Amino acid sequence: MQIIKTVAEARTWRAAKPRVALVPTMGNLHAGHLSLVAAARKIADHVVVSIFVNPLQFGPNEDLANYPRTFEADVAALEHAGVDAVFAPGVEEMYPAGGASATTVHVAGITEMLCGTSRPGHFDGVATVVTKLFNILTPDSALFGEKDYQQLAVVRRMAADLALPVVVEGGPTVREADGLAYSSRNAYLTPDERRRAVALSAAIDDVCARLAAGQQDFRSLEARGWAQLSDAGFDPDYFDIRDTDLAPATRQTTAFRVLAAGRLGRTRLIDNKGISRD
Ligand code: AMP
Repeated sequence: MQIIKTVAEARTWRAAKPRVALVPTMGNLHAGHLSLVAAARKIADHVVVSIFVNPLQFGPNEDLANYPRTFEADVAALEHAGVDAVFAPGVEEMYPAGGASATTVHVAGITEMLCGTSRPGHFDGVATVVTKLFNILTPDSALFGEKDYQQLAVVRRMAADLALPVVVEGGPTVREADGLAYSSRNAYLTPDERRRAVALSAAIDDVCARLAAGQQDFRSLEARGWAQLSDAGFDPDYFDIRDTDLAPATRQTTAFRVLAAGRLGRTRLIDNKGISRD
């Protein structure tokens, strides 16, 4: 497995490889990331995983400095998973102009709701770094987790709008035994918070079950989910019932996406699930 630190080396590695799949990550790898790697191996001859904690997607009061960095363990896990290359540039390699980028990518509409409201500028940072990774590695496919459902939608929309020559694939959310979605940020939780964190997936499950049973009062279902989060000690950012394109659900909607986010102590957690009914 090749460890690549520079854009120039990445371009050399990429040249003359027939089918390359990219899995972009911020490291601190867990079973969710590794499920995307396994899916990537099925669709491409060569798999590259990027590890880059992207400063552009963190707000001024967010956890950039404390974000868990576990490079040695990540490399070992990726080697074991049969990855061909790791692209792990430093900040100065990705943003040579003093860590900043004068050029950014903004995907209008879809970024102005849900996590876009609680994290202003976050999705511009994501869209910008993903564009840059696509330009450096020119992957045929790129894989993103449904765990970050809005992010996946933003990247899909960006790739379609700009005719980026890459197929964007989504992978299902991988969960711990109690239902909590794997996330690098779970490491911030105290043991007590970790026990209460299950409320996030449980509240989404509860609302999904009610939607599956035909309930139509979306506002009161959202309020119910919100209350379950509050009761467990979360400070919720949103609890929303949407359609699969993230428009608010209507009586005509048959395929729903239930999305929620909130802070448990100092840790912001997000999750979502889909539910269809005829
Ligand atoms: P991150 O390192 O948190 O930026 O995540 C890198 C990629 O892994 C993103 O496409 C995430 O959506 C995906 N991912 C994160 N957690 C999970 C999970 N529990 N299941 C599946 N994919 C995930």
